[in-house]
Amino acid sequence: MIEISHVNKWYSPTFQVLTDCTTSVTKGEVVVVCGPSGSGKSTLIKCVNALEPFQSGDISVDGTKVNDPKTNLPKLRSRVGMVFQHFELFPHLKIIDNLCLAQEKVLGRAHDNSVTKGMQLLERVGLKEQAQKFPAQLSGGQQQRVAIARALAMDPIVMLFDEPTSALDPEMVSEVLDVMVDLAREGMTMMVVTHEMGFARKVANRVIFMDRGEIVEDAPKDDFFGKPRSDRAQKFLSKIL
Ligand code: ATP
Ligand code: MG
Repeated sequence: MIEISHVNKWYSPTFQVLTDCTTSVTKGEVVVVCGPSGSGKSTLIKCVNALEPFQSGDISVDGTKVNDPKTNLPKLRSRVGMVFQHFELFPHLKIIDNLCLAQEKVLGRAHDNSVTKGMQLLERVGLKEQAQKFPAQLSGGQQQRVAIARALAMDPIVMLFDEPTSALDPEMVSEVLDVMVDLAREGMTMMVVTHEMGFARKVANRVIFMDRGEIVEDAPKDDFFGKPRSDRAQKFLSKIL
C-alpha cells in the first residue's frame, strides 16, 4: 500500500534529514515508527502524502507515485488520512461542519450524505453529543477523536498519524489510543509515529526505529521488543520502556 524506496532528503545543502530510507506498509498492516527527537520521523511521514518534497528515491501509495509531477496530489491526499499532534480542527466551524467540509468540497458529497456520514463517525468515536459544539468547547482528547473521525470521513485507504497523543494530558491518551486500536483491528492500513509502546505491542505488525535520518531497525513487533538488533534501538527502548 505504501512503498518507500531509497528516499533521500535534504532541508539544506548541508543538512540531510533522510538517508536512504526504504520500507513498505502492506494493506491492513500497522507500522509504528519511533526514534529520538529530530531523527526524521515527521519528515518521513510527511513525504508519504507529499507534504514535504524529497530529492531522490520514490514513494508510492496504492500504486500512485507521490513524487511524479503528473500525480494529482489533492486526489491522492484525499485518500490518505493524516492526523497530527495538534488537532488542527477548523476553530470557527462546529464539530459536525468540521467533518462535512472536505467531504463536500473535495469529494462532492451532498450535504445530507456528509452529515449522515459525519454523525456515524462521531458516534463511533463516542462524540455524537458534541456535534453542535465548537472545537474550543471540547477537551484535547475529544478534539483529537474528532480529527480522526474527520480523516475517516474521506474513506481513506491508509491513515498516517504523527504523535497523535503527545500533546494530550495523560488521562486523555487512552481514549484516543482506544479509537486507534479499534481502527487497527478493523483492518485499516496505518503508519503511526508514536512512543506509545503499549499501542505498538497491542496492534503493530512491525516497528521501525529511526535515528539521524536513517531507518536503523525495521522488524516484526515481537522481534523488536524481544531484542532490537542495534545498540541505538536498545538504548532508546531502555529509556522509554
Ligand atoms: P520529534 O520527535 O521531535 O517530532 P522527528 O523525528 O519528527 O522529531 P523531524 O521533525 O522530522 O524529526 O525533524 C528532523 C530534523 O529536521 C530535525 O533536526 C529538525 O530540526 C529538522 N527540520 C524539520 N523540519 C525542518 C524544516 N522545515 N526546515 C529545516 N529543518 C527542518
Ligand atoms: Mg516529529
